[in-house]
Amino acid sequence: MQGQMMHVPLKIADILTYAAEVHPQGEIVSVRTEGDIHRTTYAATARRVAQLAHGLAEMGVVPGDRVATLAWNGYRHFELYYAVSGMGAVCHTINPRLSAEQMSYIVNHAEDTVLFVDTTFLPIVEGLRGQWPRDLRIVVMTDRAHMPEGGDLLCYEDLLEGQEDRIDWPDLPEDSAAGLCYTSGTTGNPKGTLYSHRSTVLHAMMVGLSLPSALQPGRKILPVVPLFHVNAWGLPYAAPLTGASLIFPGGALDGESLFRLMDDEEVFSAWGVPTVWLGLQGEIAKQGRLPKGFGDVVIGGSAAPASMIRGFEEAGVNVCHAWGMTEMSPVGTQGTLPPHMEDAPFDERLAVKAKQGRRLFGVELKIVAEDGTRLPHDGKAIGELYVRGNTVTSGYFRNDEANARVFDGEGWFGTGDVATIDANGFLTITDRAKDLIKSGGEWISSLDLENVVMSHPRVANCAVIAVPHPKWDERPLLIVVPQGEAPDRQALLDLLSEHFAKWQLPDDIVFVEDLPLTATGKVSKLTLRERFADHSLP
Ligand code: ADP
Repeated sequence: MQGQMMHVPLKIADILTYAAEVHPQGEIVSVRTEGDIHRTTYAATARRVAQLAHGLAEMGVVPGDRVATLAWNGYRHFELYYAVSGMGAVCHTINPRLSAEQMSYIVNHAEDTVLFVDTTFLPIVEGLRGQWPRDLRIVVMTDRAHMPEGGDLLCYEDLLEGQEDRIDWPDLPEDSAAGLCYTSGTTGNPKGTLYSHRSTVLHAMMVGLSLPSALQPGRKILPVVPLFHVNAWGLPYAAPLTGASLIFPGGALDGESLFRLMDDEEVFSAWGVPTVWLGLQGEIAKQGRLPKGFGDVVIGGSAAPASMIRGFEEAGVNVCHAWGMTEMSPVGTQGTLPPHMEDAPFDERLAVKAKQGRRLFGVELKIVAEDGTRLPHDGKAIGELYVRGNTVTSGYFRNDEANARVFDGEGWFGTGDVATIDANGFLTITDRAKDLIKSGGEWISSLDLENVVMSHPRVANCAVIAVPHPKWDERPLLIVVPQGEAPDRQALLDLLSEHFAKWQLPDDIVFVEDLPLTATGKVSKLTLRERFADHSLP
């Protein structure tokens, strides 16, 4: 028997319409490329989004078109998210830190018709224009006064000028494509995840439900995670939905700039990858205090070192460690403690917070052995992690070759991560499958070793990678960025010996000035493996 309730398609534009009505004073504060701070509200933004959508239609953008962006976190980028998807087109966010070759591939693969670009990234556009379709139109995200001279570039504010600030959004099937994001991809070309209105709205509700301390009216949230990287973890949708304000940092993501912005705006919750928080923690140590109002940090994208979690928690900042992927919209798990653990001793709570958290409603997790059999959730069995849910990709955009590889016989998506899940549902990522070190038939987790090394006070950052070995296949090499004077090698090995068996310890330690990062701000193990492929172990 069928239920008898209405079916109203889920639509991204409805989030902003709702925010403009219910949380009209919710703020969007942006550090602009023009150099100043811009302030607006959800109500005013809804009006500009309507103008932008009319402007896009006048330019000839039609439903299904891919409209690309190459921009920092700011209000104009936010407006594009809503105007483009609202009219039925697809907002394709491009990561400006990708290589020229990858950016050239992505624009051609997606067949973008318009590209919106921040002035900062104009040199990239100049360099690549010859490789992109001749009819790709380029709009600079600024006003007339800041437009570069000459050329055929269009001006963002001109598009809005004189347009009506009201719009009746078209009815769209909820499965219509709304957003497109390519993962950096460590091998081969980047792969695109094509989000729908339905998946995006559901994801916003799921994130809002699972992180209520940050996502509530009046709270100020700083997405350091970029709008060009998996929709800034869904914050441009979850924040207006819940009435939280958004503070956009523009391009200044160093510790000092972030501290100043957070202090001035009294940001409560900040979201980003661990490398960014290393910078902020350095600045907090320098200033000897927290930024005003700072109470909550969400860390994801790669494993949050236990020492980083300890540093924040000891200073009184609640840490939520989250895990996800571009292919999952992206949030899959988050580490809020269950009430019965809140009064546990500090170190016990810390150990649980270092795990990657529990699944969001709507995301199913399973770990499987090499032959595909399911493994128990006992905190011990290690297997490859598969996921399923309404916010998980059902296939990469125009990529049959990859699609043939990543789903199992039951249609679950293989994450490429290796993990355990404990009886309380807490996920622990042991490693990315390709980063595990296979020594003499046994696996060594690079993440586990890094976690311990990071607790040494003279270690600023580190990475453990596999180097080829004639007898053992692979052996671990520890690469350390020292904090000031380099730590003693033996001291590091002694520290590791407290936690690991002898055969798991790195064969060698090298000290470097910094670690190469991927386009999404994670340590690039691929680059390190290439760089140290011929490293001779003692
Ligand atoms: P890219 O690697 O291209 O930036 P994603 O941002 O989608 O793509 O990366 C997803 C991967 O990042 C996950 O599969 C996992 O390996 C890693 N990851 C994300 N969050 C965490 C976390 N909290 N702990 C450990 N690994 C994480």
